[in-house]
Amino acid sequence: EAKLKGGNRMAQFEAEFDHERNMRQTIEEGIRGGLDRGEFAVHYQPIVEAATGRVGAVEALVRWPGREEGQLGPDVFIAVAESSGLIHQLGLFVLRRACEDLRDLHDLSVSVNVSPAQFRDPNFEYNVAEVLAEVDFPPSRLELEVTEGYLIEHPDRAVAAIAALKRQGISITLDDFGTGYSSIGYLRRYGFDRIKIDKSLAGRVGADPQATALVSGTVAIANALAMAVTAEGVETADHALLLRAAGCQKLQGYHFGRPVPLADLRRALSNVDRPAAAASADRAA
Ligand code: C2E
Ligand code: MG
Ligand code: MG
Ligand code: MG
Repeated sequence: EAKLKGGNRMAQFEAEFDHERNMRQTIEEGIRGGLDRGEFAVHYQPIVEAATGRVGAVEALVRWPGREEGQLGPDVFIAVAESSGLIHQLGLFVLRRACEDLRDLHDLSVSVNVSPAQFRDPNFEYNVAEVLAEVDFPPSRLELEVTEGYLIEHPDRAVAAIAALKRQGISITLDDFGTGYSSIGYLRRYGFDRIKIDKSLAGRVGADPQATALVSGTVAIANALAMAVTAEGVETADHALLLRAAGCQKLQGYHFGRPVPLADLRRALSNVDRPAAAASADRAA
């Protein structure tokens, strides 16, 4: 009887495994076709300077319209793109689109996420340079966001890639800080310009004294090592105040704005750029 039970469990496991593999294959086919058909879009989320509230940068976030209703957000399809190798094409598409979209918004920098798999490609830094040259986008306005996993696994390649990108004038940000295992002191050797504190940590500031101490400490060490700090996942005015008090130089989150298509970003920016005009229009009304 025990044997039968074990066998059933095995069969169930195999069925689940098959199901998952089929899902992954379906998504992979979808991404391949979606790239060919131009289905992917890029949305932009404002990043504000904590001291002034000015929008100085935006983060480019890939979207797959029509596909995200289920559970198919970027967290899911990016993972499939990574395991299938399609991330190289998808990643360069996002970079190119972001640079094209923002080229004439001269006051804005753009942060583009880079997957570890892209970093592994020895041509990555050349491909980036090529896109910037083709689009005529100044490297000084580009930040690339990387997560720590790959860096730890392949430190030599990571150090070389980051150095090559920085020589081009591109800034490098460590994304999702607080979700990994490494100390800032260790990560320092990669030469990051900025650390982005993950929303899982930033979101607990105020409510959780330990999280608050961790954020302040991170800021202190990062600043001492000439790295700036951005907090993400800022959802309320209270959080914004606390994270600013903790020393974060830049803030990003739903409190300031969700990721939106380019047209909405332009509209939002033109509203804050002309406060006087908006105020006089209000008075006239
Ligand atoms: P990430 O780079 O850490 O991006 C931040 C995520 O937090 C985004 O989710 C953003 O929409 C979300 N977010 C921003 N503010 C708030 C907030 O106040 N509250 C909450 N709850 N969430 C907030 P999204 O767009 O679903 O992207 C998820 C992840 O997918 C990204 O995390 C990034 O790792 C990956 N990703 C997105 N676009 C790209 C891309 O073009 N290339 C690569 N390689 N990865 C991407
Ligand atoms: Mg990011
Ligand atoms: Mg992040
Ligand atoms: Mg993330």
